[in-house]
Amino acid sequence: MSSPAPRVPAPSVEPNAVEMDLYEVRKTIYPRAVHGVFATWRWAVIIFTQVVFYGLPWLVWNGRQAVLFDLGARRFYIFDLVLWPQDFIFLTGILIISALSLFLFTAVAGRLWCGYACPQTVYTELFMWIERRIEGDRGKRMKLDQQPWSARKIGLKAAKHGVWIAVALWTGITFVGYFTPIKELVAAIPSRLSGWETFWVLFYGFATYGNGGGCASRCASTCVRTRGSSR
Ligand code: SF4
Repeated sequence: MSSPAPRVPAPSVEPNAVEMDLYEVRKTIYPRAVHGVFATWRWAVIIFTQVVFYGLPWLVWNGRQAVLFDLGARRFYIFDLVLWPQDFIFLTGILIISALSLFLFTAVAGRLWCGYACPQTVYTELFMWIERRIEGDRGKRMKLDQQPWSARKIGLKAAKHGVWIAVALWTGITFVGYFTPIKELVAAIPSRLSGWETFWVLFYGFATYGNGGGCASRCASTCVRTRGSSR
């Protein structure tokens, strides 16, 4: 017969002990629209970078897409420049110089990249702008979220997410359009897209929706907080 298990004494509890959570419950953040010189500059940079990003794949140069990274043919076309696999050392050089420039500008002038050109910043700003256009500024969004679900609330939320999804999908198509001729890509939607094209359009689109939409409506990471937004 086995001997009984030894009794473990119950932990002693201090009479005035208070139980508290180690993690704070996530709170919804409602950023206000921010105005001023730096906000205007940010919008100028956002408009410029997005016109370049969305427009460049549509630009035709000498009868072909001006910028096309043709992985299948192992050739990168950048206007008149054609890079072959043996030229990738130049591409590596450009990437290293870009990374070092980023370090330099951040050390000298602060979070220039973070504040003006990081895709996280750009798409969060863009998605917050869409949210403001549809649901209104901070006060109206807070009031809307506190209201019970109604046809109006469902309509506003559906419109917001519908526009966000459309922007995100178009961003995914544009991204893939740098690797597949974009006119052929758009003409092939949706039934004749290859498996990889479908995957990357959806993956990039989902990443944009998750990052831009997620930050705009919920988590508001440090990126948003550093812009002077408030709860
Ligand atoms: S901290 Fe935010 S804004 Fe800065 S680089 Fe990272 S993701 Fe971009």
